[in-house]
Amino acid sequence: MTAPSLSIVVPCYNEEACLTELHGRLSAAARELGDASYEIILVNDGSGDRSWEMMRALAAGDPHVVAINLSRNHGHQLALTAGLDLCAGARILIIDADLQDPPELLPEMMAVMDRQQADVVYAVRRARAGETAFKRATAKLFYRGLSKLAEIEIPLDTGDFRLMSRRALDALLSLPEQARFIRGMVAWVGFRQVPIVYDRAERHAGRTKYPLSRMVRFAFDAVTGFSTAPLRFASHIGLWLVAASVLLLIYIAFAFLTGATIQGWTSLMLVVVVLGAVQMFVLGMIGEYLGRLYIEAKRRPLYIVSDIAGHAGGHPSLGHVAHEAETIAASDTPGGNGSRPIA
Ligand code: UDP
Ligand code: MG
Repeated sequence: MTAPSLSIVVPCYNEEACLTELHGRLSAAARELGDASYEIILVNDGSGDRSWEMMRALAAGDPHVVAINLSRNHGHQLALTAGLDLCAGARILIIDADLQDPPELLPEMMAVMDRQQADVVYAVRRARAGETAFKRATAKLFYRGLSKLAEIEIPLDTGDFRLMSRRALDALLSLPEQARFIRGMVAWVGFRQVPIVYDRAERHAGRTKYPLSRMVRFAFDAVTGFSTAPLRFASHIGLWLVAASVLLLIYIAFAFLTGATIQGWTSLMLVVVVLGAVQMFVLGMIGEYLGRLYIEAKRRPLYIVSDIAGHAGGHPSLGHVAHEAETIAASDTPGGNGSRPIA
């Protein structure tokens, strides 16, 4: 089978209520292009609901659908990476499962890519419906803070919703890191990247899979992945503190010589508390980098695939895994037995 001209890659975590609608609208958008050779890669990121059963059913009923089951929840960015690794298309659309990103934008993205000879067409959020004021405010702050810190230019208010050329995707997949902030990594890759603006819809169904704790971790991955400014900030604080302590030393010596050394509980406490806090903060910041360095040093595979349902696509590695997965399905053993790492 030859490679399709378009791959649509969708990471899914507990999205049973969205999948049918998603499949319908993605298929309609792909057919709109007038080219039958597309594939829809649904990645089940260890859902606890019926997402995987539904994906299998979709793959059984539609030869365009490939369903990939990860061995557990690996997180949004790694699930997306799994789908990107295994897709075969000449162009690749990344889209969320919850239909916040409208599939109907696809023809326009294709047209912009053609017209502007672009390698990446990324979708910039103008409005965000149905999201809490807190999420909108923190997201806004985050993208602006990141662009101040990052050593490359990362587009503002842009998620992973984008269309990419094969060479841009291959370049992206050559970046090996575990802590993946894909929207930043795509920016790092370069080539010609152009924005289109859209209004982000409300979730079709279900709840966000990004509670505050995950948002914070995602933000740390972004900052540590694209900036060493916090580390420089640590050394700058250190320098200022050294300067301040020289002044303090002079004052201490003066107080000692003049015999006025008994008072000063307040200033002493102030110094202890402030210094303690600054030290812990800086240490924590260094720890964030060190922890990530440690994880990277282990060189573990990014994710583990347990089953694949649907056609084998044009991709050599997918063909291999799909074959293996069919064997698993045929012998009806649980997917876990067939697990194999795909790095
Ligand atoms: N997702 C995933 N694994 C996770 C969390 C999320 O594959 O551990 C998927 C999710 O199903 C959705 C996309 O990532 O397709 C974005 O998640 P969500 O819509 O919950 O994020 P939000 O739009 O609220 O930021
Ligand atoms: Mg969403």
